[in-house]
Amino acid sequence: MLKTINIRTNSRVEFIDITDDVNRLVRDSGVKDGICCIYVPHTTAGITINEGADPSVQRDIQRSLSRLIPFDGDYSHAEGNSPAHIKSSLTGVSTSVIIEGGRLMLGTWQSVFFCEFDGPRSRKVVVKIVG
Ligand code: ZN
Repeated sequence: MLKTINIRTNSRVEFIDITDDVNRLVRDSGVKDGICCIYVPHTTAGITINEGADPSVQRDIQRSLSRLIPFDGDYSHAEGNSPAHIKSSLTGVSTSVIIEGGRLMLGTWQSVFFCEFDGPRSRKVVVKIVG
């Protein structure tokens, strides 16, 4: 089963918690035990699993990435969005989560985040559920 989540981002850099959307797709699939692959088909966005309870964790990740990869660095790519491409490579564009009991097997504090690095834009997340 292959599904798409459409996302409209509102900021240049923004993390969006898609855990509930993915869990809804898992539930609708009827798969109780399996694997869920979550894939972002973009070069300036990413996916990460990290703490969802305290939003300051996401801000700290975003700020730390921006300190490491500043917006106004010495980049060659003429489009001007090299920092977003580099951040995408650092976070990666896919993750897989075990499905157990019809839900994503995430830790208590874990959420799945779509990472926008070059917004605002319309984005897609592709989800493949295998039982
Ligand atoms: Zn580019």
